[in-house]
Amino acid sequence: MSEYFEIIDFIKSIYPDENPVPLHAPRFLGNEKKYLNECVDSTFVSSVGAFVDLFEKEFAKYVGAKYAVAVVNGTAALHVVLKLAGVQNDDEVITQPLTFIATVNSITYCGARPVFIDVDTETMGLSPDALQKFLLNNCRIENKTCINKSTGKKIKACLPMHTFGHPVRIDRIKDICDEWNITLVEDAAESLGSYYNNNHTGTFGKVGIFSFNGNKIITSGGGGAIVTNDELLAKKAKYITTTAKIPHKWEFVHDEVGYNYRMPNINAALLCAQLENLEKFLESKRKLAGLYSKLFRSHNMKFFNEPANAKSNYWLNSVILNDRIRRDEFLESTNNNGVMTRPIWKLMNKLEMFKDCQAGELKNALWLAERVVNIPSSVIVK
Ligand SMILES: *Cc1c(COP(=O)(O)O)cnc(C)c1O
Repeated sequence: MSEYFEIIDFIKSIYPDENPVPLHAPRFLGNEKKYLNECVDSTFVSSVGAFVDLFEKEFAKYVGAKYAVAVVNGTAALHVVLKLAGVQNDDEVITQPLTFIATVNSITYCGARPVFIDVDTETMGLSPDALQKFLLNNCRIENKTCINKSTGKKIKACLPMHTFGHPVRIDRIKDICDEWNITLVEDAAESLGSYYNNNHTGTFGKVGIFSFNGNKIITSGGGGAIVTNDELLAKKAKYITTTAKIPHKWEFVHDEVGYNYRMPNINAALLCAQLENLEKFLESKRKLAGLYSKLFRSHNMKFFNEPANAKSNYWLNSVILNDRIRRDEFLESTNNNGVMTRPIWKLMNKLEMFKDCQAGELKNALWLAERVVNIPSSVIVK
C-alpha cells in the first residue's frame, strides 16, 4: 500500500491549498461576482433576464449547435429531450448501465423502461458493436418503428453518455440508430469541451443535454442546457420548459403540460462568467491529464487517456486498477490520507429500481465497474 504514497504526495503537491483534496471543486476566477452583482442590481434574478438570453446565444455558438435552451438542471434537460424525442409511456430507451443515475431516472420519468447495452472499454460509453448485435438479435422494424421482439415494445430512443468527458464512438452509434429508426439523444452532461472527429459532443443526435451542476466543468450552481439544430424542437423545448402558455397580454391560457424547468437569470449570470473561462479550464485539465498519465505510467498503473478520434475535456480523471482488491486498497489508502478518490458508479441494472430491466451481455461494463477509480481533477489554480 505504501507504494501509493508517492501518488498521494504528488496529488497533494498539485493542490497545496486544499486538504483533503476534493475530487472536483468549482473555480471562480473571472467575472462571476461582477455579473452576479449586475443581476441583483437589475432585479431580474428570476426566470427571465438578459443573462439567460446571452448564455443561450453564446453556448449554442460554443458547441456549434443552432439553438440552446437553458434549464434548471441536467436531469430536467434529460426529461425534456426524451419527451421531445417522442418517448412515451410503455416505450423503451436504450442506454448504458455504466452511467450516473440521472440518465436512467429520466427514462423512468417518461413512463418508459431502459434497456441496458454494454460499453466499450476504450471509451467507458455505449458500444456501437454491442448495440448493433442487440438490435440484430432482438429487434425488427415495423411501420418505421423499432420493435423489441422479446417485449413487444417500441424502442424510441437511444441515450449514450460520454463518460467523464470521453466521447463514445458517436458516429457509428448515429448510423446504427438511423438504420433502425431510433432517435439519438446524447447525454453530454459531462463532456462540455469534448469533441469527436472535431464536432462537439451533444450535437450528433437530434438533441443533446449538458449539466452545470457544481461538480461539472463549469457551473451555474445548478443548471443544464438542451442543444439542437432543429428549430421546431428548440421552440418546443423553450415552450414546455416554461409553462406552455399561449402568448397573450393578460390571459393565462396553457395548451399543454409545461414543466417550469427554466434556469433563473441569477444562475445564468454565474454561468456566463464561467463560460468565459472554459477554454482556460480545458487547457488546465489537459495539462493535468498529461501529468497524471506520466505519473501512473511510472507506477505501472493504467491512466484513462482520451479515445481514438476524440478530444476529451478530461473533466474527471480516472485510473483502472488491476482488480477489485487493488481498487479497494487504492481507495482506502488515498481517502485515509487526505486525497479524495471514488469508484465509478455501481451498474444501473444492479440497482433495485432497474434490476428487472432487459440487458444485453454486459461484460465490459462489469469489468470496468470493478476497476475504475476517479481521482482529483479540479482546475489547477496558480
Ligand atoms: C451530472 C449528470 C447529469 C445530471 O445533471 P444535474 O445537473 O446534476 O441534474 C446527467 N447525466 C450525467 C451523466 C451526469 O454526470
